[in-house]
Amino acid sequence: MFRFSSIKDYHTALQNGQTTCVEAVHFYLAAIKEKPQLNAFLEVFEAEAIAEAHRLDASRISGLPIGKLHGVVVGIKDVICYKGHVVSAGSKILENFKSIYHATVVEKLLQEEAIIIGRQNCDEFAMGSSNENSAFGAVRNALDESRVPGGSSGGSAVSVQANLTMISLGSDTGGSVRQPADFCGVIGLKPSYGRISRYGLIAYASSFDQIGIFSKTVEDAAVCLEVIAGADDFDSTVSEKPVPAYRSELNQSPKKYRIAYFRQALEHPGLDPEIRAGITSLIERLKQEGHTVDPIEFEFLKHIVPTYYVLTTAEASSNFSRFDAVRFGYRAPLVNPELNELYKASRSAGFGKEVQRRIMLGTFVLSAGYFDAYFTKAQQVRRILYNKSVEVFNTYEAIISPTVPATAFKIGEKSDDQVAMFLADIYTVFANLVGIPAVSIPLFTHSNGMPFGLQIMTNHFEETKMLQLSDQLMRS
Ligand code: GLN
Repeated sequence: MFRFSSIKDYHTALQNGQTTCVEAVHFYLAAIKEKPQLNAFLEVFEAEAIAEAHRLDASRISGLPIGKLHGVVVGIKDVICYKGHVVSAGSKILENFKSIYHATVVEKLLQEEAIIIGRQNCDEFAMGSSNENSAFGAVRNALDESRVPGGSSGGSAVSVQANLTMISLGSDTGGSVRQPADFCGVIGLKPSYGRISRYGLIAYASSFDQIGIFSKTVEDAAVCLEVIAGADDFDSTVSEKPVPAYRSELNQSPKKYRIAYFRQALEHPGLDPEIRAGITSLIERLKQEGHTVDPIEFEFLKHIVPTYYVLTTAEASSNFSRFDAVRFGYRAPLVNPELNELYKASRSAGFGKEVQRRIMLGTFVLSAGYFDAYFTKAQQVRRILYNKSVEVFNTYEAIISPTVPATAFKIGEKSDDQVAMFLADIYTVFANLVGIPAVSIPLFTHSNGMPFGLQIMTNHFEETKMLQLSDQLMRS
């Protein structure tokens, strides 16, 4: 029977003739079919995946060199464009929309011979922390199906958690890769802003959005990052910096790191005491092992979630004006409508509640009378946070924190409490506000049986260090 532990072992098994890409694809197709109640996939590309697996097997057996992701079964969040395939952003407004081009990440996955097995359920337009905002139903946590998997990349996280794919791609605007990774007990990595092209990623808040990776091992995340990162003529915000060989950089002897943590984050009253205890004892252990781990003051904690929501809703309200029912997307069936009437009817029926709320909030903070009070102010706070990160990284190599203040909650438990839902993002939004890389690694289990993670952040474009430290901690 097929078993997956890491891409490297899978490749060894392929080269030794112990397995085939076809066998792997059949294994995952069967696993997906066995767990429809998780609702992790919106569409499975069954025939295509099988055909591609046959092609790859033939190519490998004929002696051709194999790609870095040869035969690796990948799922993509339903916000990433795959030419000729529907991409709906978990929304009715794009329900039957087919992409006419590949996202750059898809192009790169395919070049390295990955097999894209399907598109994964998510919160509508990546807005949410629980995956309850999808127009196509909630996703369930495979460890306890009465609980949420986190959001917005819930389907992608659950796929890795429940062995429905080897790795998945999600997107992270304020935590949507790290938070579901924390809730599902897998690795979730968001790189620096500008490390991966956003071309072909449906925008939520363009100055925050990054594509991220879910995996079971640090090494798998490293090899995937190596493949999908890098300059792109189609996205001017991508860095020209060369992409390090993240995978081979992992083979280092253990190092001692200078690590900081935000005192206020660990003392926050909303933090589950067991999570606090878990992180605190890890800090003690790290100190005993010879690392420097210091508390630092972070007086801005209570401002980061409001700043994030002011800026992201503003950007979203502008981005989403393209869904006008004229160029693409759902159009309300009106006879001879006046233009505004057409916009209103189509957008009211096409967008879900959460998206509508955020468009209104974003329009409000950008409106003439309130622009300075909200938008400008939030931009100023963003700058202060950036300066703070520069100051911290002058002395320290990494910042650690819990990823989320609590473990996965029950489906429906927080649906009526917007503020509680927003507070779930308190530890993750900082990295997006300042553009630094961050990862959640599954180090802990709560007494309620659910996993929780450690978040590690490093300075801009220091993914190598972040991966090395993560690898070291995952092994110890
Ligand atoms: N929960 C956050 C939000 O709803 C993060 C979403 C994301 O990272 N895409 O905006």
